[in-house]
Amino acid sequence: MKLGPVVKARRSSQIILTLVVGVIGVQFTLWIRAHLAGRMPTVSRPPGAEGFLPIDGMMATRHLLHTGQIDPVHPAALAIFLAIIAMSIIVAKSFCSHLCPVGLISEWLGRLGIRLTGTSLSLPKWLDIPLRSLKFLILGFFGWAVWFALSPQGVADFLDSPYARIVDAKMWKFFAPPSHTTIAVLGVLIVASIFIRDFWCRYLCPYGALLGVFGRFALFKVTRNADICTDCRGCTAVCPARIKVHQLQRVSSIECTSCQDCVMACPVEGCLTVRAPSLLGGWKSWLRPVAVVAIAVGIWCAVVLGFRVTGHWRNHISEQEYHRRIREMDSPLYTHVGGMAPKEDQEDSSALQ
Ligand code: SF4
Ligand code: SF4
Ligand code: SF4
Repeated sequence: MKLGPVVKARRSSQIILTLVVGVIGVQFTLWIRAHLAGRMPTVSRPPGAEGFLPIDGMMATRHLLHTGQIDPVHPAALAIFLAIIAMSIIVAKSFCSHLCPVGLISEWLGRLGIRLTGTSLSLPKWLDIPLRSLKFLILGFFGWAVWFALSPQGVADFLDSPYARIVDAKMWKFFAPPSHTTIAVLGVLIVASIFIRDFWCRYLCPYGALLGVFGRFALFKVTRNADICTDCRGCTAVCPARIKVHQLQRVSSIECTSCQDCVMACPVEGCLTVRAPSLLGGWKSWLRPVAVVAIAVGIWCAVVLGFRVTGHWRNHISEQEYHRRIREMDSPLYTHVGGMAPKEDQEDSSALQ
């Protein structure tokens, strides 16, 4: 299979983001540990940690649509969420194959499995289809909670609640140190991903499900020219999402991550390309594969940079407020229910400090 510069380019962007996420993780750990030890930290809180708050990103998007205002508590969560959605709307589900660190690890585990066993297991259809719907059920639950369970004012109140203000710290505490259950679940997912390619992404990731829904309506998708196709099926053989590319005119599957492995495997020049629908006259010509990678990653960079230069990347919660709240984060005030307590209760709690 001819991989070449496309895989190298998207792999590089994935590795860079994975390293950045690693640095963010270390910095966030140093920051929160200092607070928990009763010291003021010598490093600042990295806003990029909000990338692990997709529910906040969804809520902030709803808040933005209702009020036109950017959530001041977790603006980076909103930026990252919007960047990922924008990537998917332009180049179908491209975050998964171009940036997502979990996608990269999942791909590597799958390759390890192929090295070990010489093959990658595919579940039979009767099991594959119901399991694939799991991620949509999870997404449906979160979608309901964000869009229907709360009123617009409820969303605004939640985003500004004591719980939401330190939800990143609460999440850190949940995983550090990881409980036996967390370790067991991670272990199962890792083993499953070694033997069944993209196990987490294919069956469980609600984020991937959401991106797939947007990706269905994407501007740029893999398109096959049936007039010159030789039906060699090389495209279908390499597709990690197990899509029957050789049978399709245009790949609209919610599982397609725009990885372009099929495009690179196609032996017929111009037969498999990434392009906009032909009815969009000016966009008729196809994109060069490396340009697809550049567009996908460029969208991400543009949105994140846009938030940074307009001063919306970092929130304005003071270090003193974090110091107080993090040390009291095990109190009932910092739960979903307690965090929605009337303002006067919240102020009473602050006065105790
Ligand atoms: S499905 Fe989820 S975990 Fe997998 S690559 Fe996409 S966003 Fe990342
Ligand atoms: S190989 Fe082609 S059809 Fe399959 S996921 Fe990648 S881009 Fe989509
Ligand atoms: S690899 Fe190209 S030529 Fe072969 S079946 Fe797929 S689209 Fe057709």
